[in-house]
Amino acid sequence: MARLRQVALDAAAAGLFVFPVRAGAKIPAFHGDTRCRRRGVCAEGHHVWEQRATRDRVQIRRWWSNTTRWNVGVACGPSGLVVIDLDVSTEPIHAWGGATTGREVLDQLAARHGDTPLRTYAVRTPTDGEHLYFRVPEGLQLRNTIGGHGHSLGPLIDTRAGGGFVVGAGSVRPEGAYQVAEHGRVAELPTWLATLLAPPPVPSPQATPTKGLSTKRANAYIAAIQADELDKVECAQAGTRQITLLDAARVFGQLVGGGELDADNAYAALLGAAEAHIGVAGFTRAEAERTIARGMAFGMRAPRTIDRGTGTHVHEM
Ligand SMILES: [Zn+2]
Repeated sequence: MARLRQVALDAAAAGLFVFPVRAGAKIPAFHGDTRCRRRGVCAEGHHVWEQRATRDRVQIRRWWSNTTRWNVGVACGPSGLVVIDLDVSTEPIHAWGGATTGREVLDQLAARHGDTPLRTYAVRTPTDGEHLYFRVPEGLQLRNTIGGHGHSLGPLIDTRAGGGFVVGAGSVRPEGAYQVAEHGRVAELPTWLATLLAPPPVPSPQATPTKGLSTKRANAYIAAIQADELDKVECAQAGTRQITLLDAARVFGQLVGGGELDADNAYAALLGAAEAHIGVAGFTRAEAERTIARGMAFGMRAPRTIDRGTGTHVHEM
């Protein structure tokens, strides 16, 4: 559609590296490694969305033809961006003064660091979330974080940087549109935030033990990953079951994003594993479903593929 093509061209003109995202889903529109035919852009090896994201107007016009209606993905790493993804919750978070939005948590964090509420280019998401765009200071390498987890800023706040993407303003989902909430320039990431987001001293290595597995071995490998995660969920103690479920859903989401797993099957498997906890010590089905959806959505934005040599499927892009 011409409108989304213009959205993509405008984003590129503003300096963002863009790529097509499937309409209605936060999944890149490219073929995954499993379906790669090692030709074209992948002639020298499979290229993932982060490598293919571009500001090239010719390429953008090719992707957003008159017959395609892709949403506009913004690759944070290549764009030199960190995007703070602020969520909303129906339950007040007592540790943060009863906050129900990531924005409130972020404002409190800013105040603690002697800063005023942050202002920068921002996009409102169809689910009432907010994406705050910041330029990453020169020389700093940031990766994604997930709210309330490990190296994160706080509850209801995820961040997308290298390895992450966001759906840009002007894109549309069944729930509604992504709209600019605050116009103007993308501000530089404040130093206090950069310090909080800087990678830990011992970064986990990006291991690639799966290079060039045969299809059979790759499938066994994927099955083992799933079984391991589902086991962890089933065996989780009451105190850690939600975090364990969120982690498992993230891992499944990454494989869904990479085209390795079917989203519905992944969701069903996770819910099946969570079943043992539902109704125990106050854990509800709604909570399980919400946790799975959230973890999968996060994982899908960092797609993971298993290299199993040249596939035989025809692909679109
Ligand atoms: Zn490929």
